[in-house]
Amino acid sequence: MTQISLIGAGLAGCVLSIYLARRGFKVDIYERRPDPRKVANSEGRSINLTLSTRGIYVLKQIGLYDKIMKLAIPLKGRVIHSINQELTFQPYGKKDNEVIYSMARNELNVALLNEVESYKNIAIHFNQKCTGLEFESRELKLRDEISGQKTKVKTNTVIGTDGSASALRMDMLKRKGFNFSQYYLNHGYKELKIPAGGNQKFLLEKNALHIWPRGEYMINGFPNIDGSFTCILFAPLQGENSFESLNSPEKLLNFFQVQFPDAVSIMPTLVEDYFSNWTGSLVTVKCTPWSVDERALLLGDSAHAIVPFYGQGMNCAFEDCVYLDECIDKYGTDWQKVFQEFEKLRKINTDAIADLSVENFTELREKVSDAKFLLKKKVELALAQKYPKVFISKYSMLAFHRIPYSEARLQGRIQDRILDELCESIDEVENLNWEKVDELVKERLIKQKNFSEQFYQATFLYPGGGGMPVPAPI
Ligand SMILES: Cc1cc2nc3c(=O)[nH]c(=O)nc-3n(C[C@H](O)[C@H](O)[C@H](O)COP(=O)(O)OP(=O)(O)OC[C@H]3O[C@@H](n4cnc5c(N)ncnc54)[C@H](O)[C@@H]3O)c2cc1C
Repeated sequence: MTQISLIGAGLAGCVLSIYLARRGFKVDIYERRPDPRKVANSEGRSINLTLSTRGIYVLKQIGLYDKIMKLAIPLKGRVIHSINQELTFQPYGKKDNEVIYSMARNELNVALLNEVESYKNIAIHFNQKCTGLEFESRELKLRDEISGQKTKVKTNTVIGTDGSASALRMDMLKRKGFNFSQYYLNHGYKELKIPAGGNQKFLLEKNALHIWPRGEYMINGFPNIDGSFTCILFAPLQGENSFESLNSPEKLLNFFQVQFPDAVSIMPTLVEDYFSNWTGSLVTVKCTPWSVDERALLLGDSAHAIVPFYGQGMNCAFEDCVYLDECIDKYGTDWQKVFQEFEKLRKINTDAIADLSVENFTELREKVSDAKFLLKKKVELALAQKYPKVFISKYSMLAFHRIPYSEARLQGRIQDRILDELCESIDEVENLNWEKVDELVKERLIKQKNFSEQFYQATFLYPGGGGMPVPAPI
């Protein structure tokens, strides 16, 4: 039985191990943390995740959809909380079933680990931190996080699913020809909480992502099954009203009372959460090549960490697993070929979602409450209704389709220009000049789409979200 080692039993590591086990490989996963089912997660690192079509496709493929969806709350759109405490609802899609799902990261990870353990050919080794790979001798260097004991494990093929600070990537960085960039936003994030009311009552609309956009700062609130909301405060790391300067309960409460009055009134543990929870950073990582011949591959955040403003990091990491599995289907255990083909198919798309995610940060924190932006959204919806096959909004392409991210970026840019032109001279969607709309859509989108469809067929092995063969054991 061919053996493969994975570093990291996080979201991508668990899902990938299942794909590999289904093909009959023996998989060993080395995870630096203790088993989260036995040891509680450290506070302030649980942050909710939104699952959308790309991730759902994967859960269906590996037979986990029904189990995982029990942990999820559907979100139909965003509720925008203005500084004057007015609420505006912006639907995510144009159909009722165009929803994304909120779930707790820990619960998802635990459900995945339970599934992983049901495979006899997967072994998870907890508390084993990978400290690098000796490429020549093919030895994985490990340190037991409890005893401190160092060991080496011989392994032919290693896949680094060890997240944005990947240890495997660090060793690849020492090799000639490895290109790497990391870009930190000036903003960080911190987890806060809105508890449930009596009888687990939701204190805010349950089926929505709540956003308090304030330019330099923003809070996002995600519903949990127990009636509470997990919130993320995004703020500058330094400067006025930053994580650095909001350094006393008094300053924090003053800031919240001015900026987020309706949120602070339902956050009884704000001060405690703020000062005990960890401040996270927001980084985009790009690198290439993702592999060293047949010996090593990076997948998920280790290859392409992105900022969370389209809620796509995990969905994208899950989608990586589909592509890798399809490459294995095609090239068997010719790992070098598998890894090269995988990167060829994926890199253009992971670069695209990385850039789109940074761009969307500005949209979320600054524009969602702006009148011109709201008009653009209404016009976008009107166009999507009139041309459902040609005008699929950028958000829909990312969240409700499996259209390659690079294609979504291209189409999205054309759409943005069309919307800007159409909104230039109107204040209300009712005043749209439909003749001009027809002309622009035909000229810019339909022509482009004919080209794109060829591109789409050429770069996507199983277009349309179906047709995935039952994996053959290798
Ligand atoms: C604030 C925030 C919000 C987000 N929201 C969303 C969202 O709504 N939707 C979405 O799709 N994505 C979201 N993401 C992105 C998502 O969390 C990541 O893309 C996803 O977790 C990537 O999965 P991964 O398995 O590659 O990495 P990780 O989930 O980071 O897993 C890496 C695993 O490797 C282990 N590990 C690390 N180093 C070592 C080592 N040296 N040795 C052994 N084990 C190691 C870690 O303990 C961990 O278990 C968000 C991210 C952030 C920061």
